[in-house]
Amino acid sequence: MSKPFHVIATPDENGYTVTIPENPNVSARCADAVDIIPTATAAKEQDEQNRHEKTAACPKCGKIFTGYPATSRADNKTKICPEN
Ligand SMILES: [Zn+2]
Repeated sequence: MSKPFHVIATPDENGYTVTIPENPNVSARCADAVDIIPTATAAKEQDEQNRHEKTAACPKCGKIFTGYPATSRADNKTKICPEN
């Protein structure tokens, strides 16, 4: 089971642009309103898979970590390792 999440669907002439506020990297398009949730869910899962494959050096402690980073409370945007 995945956790509930917010979806923003912006209509335009060809359908909808789907974005997820919690996952700013996620953006997808769909043609029909009934596809908004499935499209958003698939895009979110793809983003999470991509993140799990990523390796980054923590700017705070220098440790190499993989997977979902935590967001620094200092500036609310720096990605740091989850242990901080
Ligand atoms: Zn760290």
